[in-house]
This record gives sequence, C-alpha cells and structure tokens, in this order.
Amino acid sequence: MEKVQEDGKLKALFEISQIAARANDLDGLWQPLLGKVLSVLKADAGSFLELKDDCLVRKAVQGLDPNILEEKIPRSEGGISWNAVRTAEPQVVSHLGETKIASPYVAAAGFKSLVSVPMMVRRELVGVVSVFSQDLLQFSSEDLNFFTTIANQAGLAVISLKAAEILSENRRRMGELEALNQVSQSISTLFDFQETLHSIIASIAKSLRGDRGMMVLFDRRDHLLKAASPAFGLTATQVRDFRVRSDEGITGQAFCQAVPVMQGKLNRETADTLERAKIFGVLSVIAAPLKVKSQTLGVIQVLSKRENNFRPSDLRLFNILASQSAVVVNSSSMYREIAEERKKDAALLSAIGEGVLAIDKSGKIIHLNEAGENITGYLAEELLGKNFIDSVGLSNPQKIKFDQADSPISKVLADGQTLTLRDCYLRKRSGVLFPAYLTFSAILDADDLIIGVMAVFRDTSSETELEEMKRELISIATHELRSPITAIKGYLDMVLSGDTGPVSDETREALLEVVNANRRLADLVDDLLNVSRIEQGKIMIRPQAVDLPALIGETIKDYLPEAENKNIRLTLAQSDIGKVRADPMRLRQVLNNLISNAVKYTESGSVELNLRRRGAEVLCEVADTGIGISRENQKKLFSKFYRVRTPETLKIAGTGLGLWISRKLLEMMAGKIWLESQDGKGSTFYFTLPAA
Ligand code: ADP
Repeated sequence: MEKVQEDGKLKALFEISQIAARANDLDGLWQPLLGKVLSVLKADAGSFLELKDDCLVRKAVQGLDPNILEEKIPRSEGGISWNAVRTAEPQVVSHLGETKIASPYVAAAGFKSLVSVPMMVRRELVGVVSVFSQDLLQFSSEDLNFFTTIANQAGLAVISLKAAEILSENRRRMGELEALNQVSQSISTLFDFQETLHSIIASIAKSLRGDRGMMVLFDRRDHLLKAASPAFGLTATQVRDFRVRSDEGITGQAFCQAVPVMQGKLNRETADTLERAKIFGVLSVIAAPLKVKSQTLGVIQVLSKRENNFRPSDLRLFNILASQSAVVVNSSSMYREIAEERKKDAALLSAIGEGVLAIDKSGKIIHLNEAGENITGYLAEELLGKNFIDSVGLSNPQKIKFDQADSPISKVLADGQTLTLRDCYLRKRSGVLFPAYLTFSAILDADDLIIGVMAVFRDTSSETELEEMKRELISIATHELRSPITAIKGYLDMVLSGDTGPVSDETREALLEVVNANRRLADLVDDLLNVSRIEQGKIMIRPQAVDLPALIGETIKDYLPEAENKNIRLTLAQSDIGKVRADPMRLRQVLNNLISNAVKYTESGSVELNLRRRGAEVLCEVADTGIGISRENQKKLFSKFYRVRTPETLKIAGTGLGLWISRKLLEMMAGKIWLESQDGKGSTFYFTLPAA
C-alpha cells in the first residue's frame, strides 16, 4: 500500500460520496464502494462486514474467494474484526501468517498484513472495512486517520442509503395502504359492478406500475378462463377474445396453483394467450388468484410493456389486493346477475303497478322500479346503495322502526321463507309515513344460495281509507235509518189501535203489510248495525243470570201470529233447567234469529223449542219441519251474507247475516252453535250457554 497524497485524499472522499449518490439501493452500493476504498488505499484485497445484531455479515469482497460472502462472524467468535468493533479503533496486523485466522478463505489467500477499521457514523457502529496486502504494512497514524475517514464516509453512505430505503419502504407501504383503501372504498360504495370492477383493476394496475390490467373469471360451463369486462387499458374486443384454458399460460398457472406468479419475460405459452386476443407489446406479467375462502373465482393480472417490471416484493401486495378484489367480485356476481336480469325484467318491473325493491345481503337497496319511485317519491338513484330500513323507514303497525337485526329482511335472508306484512309503514321522501302491504322473498343465485331479498309493496292508504269509509257509511246509514223506522212503527201501531179513528178491514190489511215490510227493514238495519259493531269490536257483553224459558216464551209471542198464519205449531217444551249466564239483550237477538228462521223456512208442521241441562251448560234446540239445508250448504251457513239459493228460498226475504251475528254473539257469551238438517225434511239448530 502506498501513501496517498493530500489532494488525492480529497478526491477519494468526493468519489466515495459520488458512489453513494449514484447507488439505487444498498445491494448496489457495497461492491463499488469497496472497489473505490481498495483503489484509494492501493490494497490487494478487502471486504465489508456489516454489523447485524450480534453478527458481522460480509456484504462485499474483492481479491478473495467470493464464497467468503457466505461467512458470518458471530460476536462469540471474536477475532480481529470484532476487536475493531469492540475498541472502535483501527486494528493493524502486520504478520498475518503468525496470527490465528478464523476464516479459511483469508488463511488460504496468504496475505501478509491486514487493517480492520470500524465504520462509525455519529458514534454508531455500522460495520468494519478490512483490507489485505501482500506486503508488510507500514501505516503512520495519519494514514490510519485517512483510512478511518474513508471508512466513516463509506459508513455514512451506507446509513443514508438505508434511510432512503426505509423511506421508500414506508412510501411503498403507504401506497399499499392507499391501494387497499381504494379497493375497500369501492366495496363500501358498491352498487355499479362495472364501474367498481374498472376502478379496482385500474388502481391495482397503477399501484404495480403496470399499463394494462384485467380480471379473468372461470366459467364453470366450458371450463375456460375469460376476461371480464371492463378491463383497464384494453379494448372491448381484446377483452372479449381473451380466453384461456384453465391450465394455460401464467393465467392458468395462477388459477390452478392458486398462488401469485410473475414472468419478468413472457414465456411462449403466455405470449400466445395474449396474442390470440391481439394484445401485443406485453413484456412482463404478474397474476394472482381471486380467492374467496376455498374457492378460486379466477385470476387478476397486470401487464407491462417493460421487461422485469414487477419485483418479487410486488407478489405479496398483489396477493392481498387480489383477495380483496375477490370479495368484491364474489358479491358482485349477484349484482351482475341482477344487472342482466334487470335488462330482461326492466320492462316487466316498470309495468308492474306495485313497488319492487331489491335488497342485497347487507340490507342495501340495489334496485327500485318505476312504480316504487312513484309510491315513495324517491328516484332510484337516490336510494341505490342505501340501507333499506333506514332510508324507507320500514316500521311496524305501531309505527316503530324495525330493528336491523330483527327485521323481516334478516329473517328472509336467514331462512329464505317469503314473508307478508299487512299493516306496516314505509316512509316517503317527504317524510310522510304510509300504510303498506309488503311481501319479502329471497333472491337466489344459480346455486340456490340466498343473495338478497326482493320487496314488493303497495301503498294501502286508499284501501284502508275506503274500508274505513265503508264502515262509517254503514254505521251512519243504519243509525239514520233506525229512527224513521221506529217512528213509522209507532205511527202504524197508533193507527191500527184505532187511536186516530176507525180503521176499515181493508185499510188494516194494507197497514199490516206495511208493518211487515217495516219490520223487515228494521231487521236489515239492525243486522247491518250489528255487523259493523261486531267488526269494530264495539259490542259490549254484560252477562247475568237469565231465565231462558221465560225469555223464549216472550220471543215466541212475537212470532205466533206469523206461525198461526202458516199453520205452524210453535212451542216450547217446559223443563226445569235453571238459569243461564248471558247478556239478555244479545240472547234475545239470537233467539229472534233462530225462531224467525225456523218459522220463515218452514211451510207447515211445527217449530219446537227444547231445553236441556248438559253438565255445566244448557243446551237449546230449535227444531223445525221446514225445507232443510243440504250438507254442502250447511258448511257455509255461518259465513257473512251467505244465503242458500234454491227455488224455495228465492221468495223468502233475508240478508244472510242472522246466523253470522248469532254465532259471534254466542261465542262472546262463551256459547256454541251448530245444526243438524236433512234436505226437505227439516232442520234443528242447537246452541249452548253456560249455566248460571
Ligand atoms: P237470512 O237472513 O237469509 O235468513 P241467516 O244468516 O239467518 O240469513 O241464514 C242464512 C241462510 O241459512 C238462510 O238464507 C237460509 O238459506 C238458511 N237457513 C237458516 N235457517 C234455516 C232453517 N231453519 N231452515 C232452512 N234454512 C235455513
């Protein structure tokens, strides 16, 4: 080693700093740096050792067997280099041959002398530089100082490059996070599959410095991997034509092996797959599987015009991004299906008068038809992507909003059963709640998995109003009719009793007809009033102990004239049954109905009433010898407005309400009603009431 001149020293230091400035990464720094140090010091050989934890690791070597790079010198082994570390002073060994040397490569090289200098940067030890010479080294302290300066300068270069690498690693991580963020943001605002797909592919391709990118999905029907549209940087035709066998090229490899792979230079097979779709000028490719749980949906791949565009470290990032994307693709397949279906069904859906709303698995709205827009006042775009329950405020009959976890939607998603809600409420855009009739049914994919819910609804406010109006009308009308009917009856009685002067037989006969007609009218009005009261739950039952035989006796009196007219024996068999527990007014209504029916529907013969005690109840029989009721008609007899239609019944007036009302009233009094009848022979109606 020769002495270095002063100006040469400055030049050497400058050159070393230049090397540091030019290096791209640490790996590219050590070797040129060592070359420079050795040439400045005019040494024959040398090496750089970096301090890593408790080891000195060789980073560069010159003039020695390159295998020495594999050597690591642990602190426990000690030696000349470790002495330099420990003392933080240069170590000079002039008679290397006489010193025990750990490294067989150094020993084999047969150098005479060695200088090991610690590389220090701000009292921090970076590593050690060792130089070897065939000659005996004669170093002045000034020379050693220069060597130390050079070593420190080299250390500085290493440290600054390390800092730069850490910085760029951080930046890369930030980029990864950013890319991840973009992907997950796309998920959260997802409702347009095409747009989402495009933004995902574009952001992934860009974060990997690629020029083009595409998703290739596996088609289960023909076992081919096919590019999905839209792709990034590719034409629609290229996308349409990119079809690959499931084991072909890099695409097939990533799909079959389900691992990310890259080709720094395209192999023939991969190049073929691209050229078939007229995708030219691709020099490197990176591909990763789209995996959801154990299923691989396809592959996402990024193409570059540059050779070796992708780094091994990209594989990891790409894999993470691909798995994120796979989640989107998977959930989006539903959107795609719906989008396809939508085309077919759009016309149908918009023609339907009912609102149709599709909801995805997370409760977000993904479709609203025209009728739905009209009913709710929302435009479809305003609701897409929004939570169903929150946006249209699905509430129960008490107008309390459903809990997300316990909503009809989560029920349908869980068991797939169709659900109908009658008296629930939805909220219009204006904030007004309206009563709705809703049906929720599950949307299934090709594998019959539930992928969403379809809600069909209509605004029932007008129906409910109509129903209300109907009820009101009946109740007003009947009330208003009741009083004139009563007045007519009063005046007729007055005239018939002779209070207003003598009544001729002819007039009497005519007036009796009027009395009958008036009674029928009164009955009809009473029946209608009763029906509307029962339906509105307005009938109050006040049970008390009632002397049933006495009540029957009184009722029969009203029908005796009619019975006598028709030559019918109307009787009550006397028996001691005690009292029953009932509301006398309501019970009178029941008896009126049964006795009047028996007389009405009997031409001749008898109507017999019978009472019996049966345990804790009293049984009442009303048996007639009338026209009877066929088995078929018996079943429907107690329905509202039901009347038997036969030639015999045609001329008999009635409303079809009496038996319905009787049954309701008896049930309210803890009783029951039924009948036995033979067509043409007669009927027996039975009812029970609790004994008092
Ligand atoms: P209506 O006002 O028509 O009598 P109800 O509800 O009292 O209405 O009776 C329903 C139908 O049952 C009647 O129209 C009639 O056809 C039949 N019905 C009721 N009671 C008898 C009976 N005792 N004999 C034959 N048919 C009867």
